[in-house]
Amino acid sequence: MFGWIGKILRVNLTDETLLAEDLDPKVVKDYIGGRGLGTWFLNRELDPKCDPLSPANILIMATGPLTGTGAPTGARYMVMTKSPLTGGITCSNSGGKFPTELKRSGFDAVVIEGCAKAPLYLWIDRGKAELRSADHLWGMTTHETTDSLLVETEEKAKVACIGPAGEKKVLFASIMNDRDRAAGRSGVGAVMGSKNFKAIVVRGEGKVPIADKERFRAFNRKILGQFNEEAKTTPIGLRINGTAGVVMVTHNLGVLPTKNWQQGMFDGWESIDGRELTKKYLVTNSACFGCPIGCGRKTKVEDPKYAGEGEGPEYETIYAMGSNCMVDNLPAVLKANYLCNELGLDTITMGATVACAMELAERGYLTEKEIGRSLQWGDADALVELTRLTGTREGFGDRLAEGSYRLAESCGHPELAMVSKKQEFPGYEPRGAQAMGLAYATSPIGGSHMRGDPAYFELFGIPKPMDPLEWKGKARPTQAFQDHSAIIDSAGLCIFFTVRNLVEKDLEIAPTGILEYMNAVTGADYTLKELSDAGQRIINAERMYLIKAGFTRQDDSLPKRLTEEPMPAGPAEGHVCHLDEMLDDYYQEREWTSDGIPTPEKLASLGLIEETGRMIIDVKLYGDLDKFSPEGGNAFNQELSQGATATDLLAQLNIPDEVQRFVLINGKRCEENSLLRDGDTVTLLTPVSGG
Ligand code: SF4
Repeated sequence: MFGWIGKILRVNLTDETLLAEDLDPKVVKDYIGGRGLGTWFLNRELDPKCDPLSPANILIMATGPLTGTGAPTGARYMVMTKSPLTGGITCSNSGGKFPTELKRSGFDAVVIEGCAKAPLYLWIDRGKAELRSADHLWGMTTHETTDSLLVETEEKAKVACIGPAGEKKVLFASIMNDRDRAAGRSGVGAVMGSKNFKAIVVRGEGKVPIADKERFRAFNRKILGQFNEEAKTTPIGLRINGTAGVVMVTHNLGVLPTKNWQQGMFDGWESIDGRELTKKYLVTNSACFGCPIGCGRKTKVEDPKYAGEGEGPEYETIYAMGSNCMVDNLPAVLKANYLCNELGLDTITMGATVACAMELAERGYLTEKEIGRSLQWGDADALVELTRLTGTREGFGDRLAEGSYRLAESCGHPELAMVSKKQEFPGYEPRGAQAMGLAYATSPIGGSHMRGDPAYFELFGIPKPMDPLEWKGKARPTQAFQDHSAIIDSAGLCIFFTVRNLVEKDLEIAPTGILEYMNAVTGADYTLKELSDAGQRIINAERMYLIKAGFTRQDDSLPKRLTEEPMPAGPAEGHVCHLDEMLDDYYQEREWTSDGIPTPEKLASLGLIEETGRMIIDVKLYGDLDKFSPEGGNAFNQELSQGATATDLLAQLNIPDEVQRFVLINGKRCEENSLLRDGDTVTLLTPVSGG
């Protein structure tokens, strides 16, 4: 298989067994890889009603076909599981060097099941895998764990691990790889901790096989040229100021969430902007494997009060811990960011939960006694201290560790949690960027900018500008960006790849550039429609998982603050987010019912036939039996309900009991009461015709 090693490692922690399985070429053609592959696994193998922190949950780490190929930003892997924060399917992705090394180690994906009796880690060395005791690592930070594992395995190996937050099942614990890169969202680290699974260490060799090297090289030259040109002129300047440079843009547009989303502008924005970060704290920029952008920030704080070094912060961290908490002290934000990386915490949910606690305290719903200290807007020391306590669930940190929704609910005021599906938002205000509200509400994982980010067209004019304050006409591009993100996440690419080069500038959003890479690498000959359909297939499969887990239209929601309280000042003054109106349009665009459920026709058109409760059987009739064919020929497809047997098929074809016949399912003689499965071939023979 091109673009793939062709193997998946299944790890059962309960009985400590390891099993290599072949990757199914049809599954990766239909679901691309990464997020799509994880969705396919979860839909087949994970009970949507299971407790996310029980051994029944499954954790999948999956690369994409472009991971490690040298395609720009082809550096990513996805972590897929049932989230303890949202209760739904989730995917959290990360870059760095670990994903490429995982693939080169001999496995495209790792599926982790069960729960270890005592802490374990997984060591994969050039195709050989073993589970080892992690007793000595338990309690260590992510940096300490990484350093120890590199000593006891191999210096050049790559590590993904959890810190104390994952061990303590903080509901928004992250999995950190390459020390400071995070699969941060939705508590994937808590799932790892609940399984007593501390780390995965990988070492590989060789290259990812590419189907058409010449075509790949030619396209790479063209795209890298575009990257280098655009990096010089881009207004965001990712290479220069990192994502932190976005602070100025969102403040000026009035969409920088401030004071737990009570305002869209922050007076202290210049103190936390990317330019300040670059000027005072940047050591150097850094890049994931094969990335020409290099948006990563290696930073250092020397002020003894907040001293530390590491990577970050990203824009989302600066909004969550800075403007949202009214903290204009950048060294304190950096320190809290470093703590999150070392303890293994999601910075967005951490900052948003502290902001929520600040509002609860201001309104008198939380007392100083409960918190263990005073807590006011802008309190930089409190931000740092509460982050530390959360990572170890000490004192008030134990309540913060449940995230803002459960904290606010425990105080009787869940409306003060700025979440969708109980997950905190990234840093773009829907009252001033309407489609962002729709994207947050309909994202399968709750508040997220990575599962479809309309900020690109609403705030940055990519591929073409759209009025951020207008809600009409936003459903279609939002859906397109979400589908596009599903393709990016599944291919193993970073979102910045697509917004730089691969969106059709004068047309609609289309994954043409990804198509070129996919075909050069995999040789799978996707058409543009097939690739676009794959994006939709993934979104619809995720949606069906959510519906089976009990999610409804009511969960595609935003807090009333965003839909009923007009923005008090700034460019979006007087506006609310028109979610309900956009939601109706969105469901229509998706061909979902008004309750947000994919129609059977939509599911069938994407090949998600099992999700419709139906199945398609290939039927072949021989001898006199061909007179029972509904279409005249002796080979045809017959649709049946799931759970149907060969007897049901015979009844549907009106073949009387007295007609003698043999039943073969997939070439093997079977009883007539044998269960059928979607895609089976049933051959019916008369004794004479069968010889
Ligand atoms: S743009 Fe940034 S996050 Fe994306 S692959 Fe490049 S360095 Fe990594």
